[in-house]
Amino acid sequence: MEYVDLHAHMVSRTTDDYRRMAMTGCVAVTEPAFWAGYDHPSAAVFADYFDRLTDFEPKRAAAVGIEHYTWLCLNPKEGEDRALAREVIDLIPGFLDRPNVLGIGEIGLNRVTRNELATFVDHVELALEHEQLIHIHTPHLEDKYKGTRVIVETLAADGRIDPSRVMVDHAEEHTIEMILEHGFWTGLTLYPTTKVSPGRAIDMVEIYGPERICVASACDWGDSDPLAVPALVLEMRRRGHPETLIRQVVYANPVEFLGQSPKFALARRERETTTG
Ligand SMILES: [Zn+2]
Repeated sequence: MEYVDLHAHMVSRTTDDYRRMAMTGCVAVTEPAFWAGYDHPSAAVFADYFDRLTDFEPKRAAAVGIEHYTWLCLNPKEGEDRALAREVIDLIPGFLDRPNVLGIGEIGLNRVTRNELATFVDHVELALEHEQLIHIHTPHLEDKYKGTRVIVETLAADGRIDPSRVMVDHAEEHTIEMILEHGFWTGLTLYPTTKVSPGRAIDMVEIYGPERICVASACDWGDSDPLAVPALVLEMRRRGHPETLIRQVVYANPVEFLGQSPKFALARRERETTTG
């Protein structure tokens, strides 16, 4: 089945991974800028990273027939350094016109500090100023509930934000409801050991329905599986879910959300085929 992996850190992955994803139905990935496992030493390193995300990765993906899109930001963990954040945020507008950039992300919070929140708000301003979609990382483990609540409440209090243009990612059982009830899109990132397993993700789709829920493999430099989305497809079939529901979760939903950017070609093609 065709699918879109909405959260895939392909800089951490080999060309073999791209090929295996293509062979299991992946037609597009979106890659948020993230923390590379160590702190970037300067803004110049971010410029190099943004170049890779907007030039090298789309070419690697295209070689196996996958469309590659990206989101730019300084990640929540490094957002603690306000001076570096200002420098990096000043760099980003120079990259926003590149053809595979869909928006600002993955911004958000890590330890939910005052500095992180200030950097988060700066990124939101940048997205509004340039009419960009927003992709949000929510903290892990013990900080998740508190961090998600701060993010959701900050955005909900800002009348300029259209929640249908915002993806609040890494939802879990105790955060999904507050995200959906404020009108945001949400993402379930599937991991072999940490975060959400395919089974838990399907439980949430069964409880809350499929509207505004997307899934992704995250496939970063840590323990993760680039084929987590097709694994979820198999598990949904095993549970007897109809193909139309599976397709909505792994294809139609991400296409609807991402299609709000005129750059997302899959959505354009879907519209052309439905209007003849
Ligand atoms: Zn990520």
